[in-house]
Amino acid sequence: MRTPLIAANWKMHKTVDEAEAFLKVFRRLTKDVTGVDIVIAPPFTALTAVVAGVQGSSIAVAGQDIFWEAEGAFTGAISPTLLLQTGATHVIIGHSERRQVFGDSDEAVNLKMRSALDFGLAPILCIGETLEERNNDETLIVLTRQICQGLDGLAGRNIAPLVVAYEPVWAIGTGHHATAEQAGQAHSHIRTTLREKFGKGAAGSCRIVYGGSVKAGNVRELVAQPEIDGALVGGASLDPESFFEIVEGGRVTTV
Ligand code: PEP
Repeated sequence: MRTPLIAANWKMHKTVDEAEAFLKVFRRLTKDVTGVDIVIAPPFTALTAVVAGVQGSSIAVAGQDIFWEAEGAFTGAISPTLLLQTGATHVIIGHSERRQVFGDSDEAVNLKMRSALDFGLAPILCIGETLEERNNDETLIVLTRQICQGLDGLAGRNIAPLVVAYEPVWAIGTGHHATAEQAGQAHSHIRTTLREKFGKGAAGSCRIVYGGSVKAGNVRELVAQPEIDGALVGGASLDPESFFEIVEGGRVTTV
């Protein structure tokens, strides 16, 4: 039985004041919510405020990226140890914006994945095809490559905390979400690939969430798919009411 997970990716949005104002409302709305794991990934500058703001709740906090080294001359980078010091427990790795804007390769994603797991952070590994790749019928090939390279060198015993986020690049921030059928097919393929690589037990305990224009109006249909264990939400997670409605809708999956 996998507990559904609904994660907010605030990207480069929200000052400390804005983050605190969000939490004031969101904590009240979610005070009686059960049966779902909630994760919030604020920008680095709001991490400690968000960690303080979720005290006494089960809401977890994530970084939006890490560098793989523990410390050193890496200007602008945040290490797993620095992230852990803020109180964050999760980290998003390989988001398509990191891959496309900042040039993160599958090799870099792999180094970050290994480092996160070594230091005890729960990674949310983002994978997904571009529109061109989908139109060329390469979706499943791309997903296999991103999983196999991103998780290279890891063993089944390492991956229990892993969350995989299937985020088709063409659906992120566009308002065009994948249909339940498209997402369901991709998620089944991801589960099969994890099973082949790590065995049934390890693969069965990983959560695979969908990301890409998730809203209150489409989350139920998506999580009704057998292999969709929740959602990673960008734009619609910035407003506490809207994110709460997604949490409510994503709470009941079929698993
Ligand atoms: C994301 O940034 O991971 C994302 C899925 O964004 P959006 O929900 O805005 O498409």
